Amino acid sequence: MLFRQLFDQQSSTYTYLLADPATREALLVDPVFEQARRDVALVEELGLKLKWALETHVHADHVTGAWLLRERLGSQIVISRASGAEGADRYIDNSGVVVFGKRSVQARSTPGHTAGCLSYVLDDHSMVFTGDALLIRGCGRTDFQQGDPRTLYESVHQQIFSLPDDCVVYPGHDYRGLTCTSVGEEKLYNPRLAESIGVEDFAGYMRHLGLAHPKQMAEAVPANMVCGRPSSSNISFAGQDWAPLTYTFAGMWEVQPNWLEEHAREVQIVDVREPEEFNGPLGRVPGAKLMPLGSLSEKISSLEKAKPIVTVCRSGARSAQATVLLGKAGFDKVANLSGGMLRWRAQRFPVEGGSDS
Ligand code: FE
Repeated sequence: MLFRQLFDQQSSTYTYLLADPATREALLVDPVFEQARRDVALVEELGLKLKWALETHVHADHVTGAWLLRERLGSQIVISRASGAEGADRYIDNSGVVVFGKRSVQARSTPGHTAGCLSYVLDDHSMVFTGDALLIRGCGRTDFQQGDPRTLYESVHQQIFSLPDDCVVYPGHDYRGLTCTSVGEEKLYNPRLAESIGVEDFAGYMRHLGLAHPKQMAEAVPANMVCGRPSSSNISFAGQDWAPLTYTFAGMWEVQPNWLEEHAREVQIVDVREPEEFNGPLGRVPGAKLMPLGSLSEKISSLEKAKPIVTVCRSGARSAQATVLLGKAGFDKVANLSGGMLRWRAQRFPVEGGSDS
């Protein structure tokens, strides 16, 4: 079987590509909206036919790429009936089978993190994709989205720990850079869910995690309840191949700081902050032109249409608005610098002006 583990840095989410090499039929588990272009490129380069996008659950920390992949590649969206999500092509429950070529995965219902969580087990029981039910030496939280610690405990012990000890566990996330674990390992060493730990101990542990809600929750949950369909669905990908751009769920194109540093000479860098910020302590990207957002439309004629534009501001919010204005003015190669000057400086890219801090 062809297998790839892909990562989204923003949300620390793992996406998994599984394909049958004989028929080239493939599926993705838990694609991320902002990574859809990456996923499409990989599927196409490997000569695969993406049949399915499988969701382990309705995520609270990122928007799914399932809708976008269906638009681009014609894949079908699979999610549990218990998720309550709308717009999927196929709703499955415990023991539902999803076939790709000569291979298949079977769903096991593993609620507790959310009411609709599914884990997907490969046909030969060598791999299981657990979403957030079981993480490496951890598990998903149980304090919102109909979460319940006792339910999660039952799910992990009955549905996942009943798999062979050498079955490799691929989780929905990891925040420390670990990639996978095994059923046997988690039975012994999971500090919350190991076989030696009782359900009441687990419930007590989970009640006192004291975590803040995920940053993207207010946006992600409603979006995932419709399988990642944006409110404006007329997205044009034409002409957006001048950089490894990311299309955000908010409908903007973004470019990462490391790309801009390497390709600064090939683009027009437009800083849309006010003059006192441009000349202030944060400094500016070398070569940036000052065009404050309020007077951008007056200065727009000094920009070249053929040369791509990267917009910059303090945090990336005003410059995102600038990409919309430039788009309306007929510029089609425009992207926002992700994270603005704050991320640019945090990642220690060169700065013109400004003061060291
Ligand atoms: Fe989750």
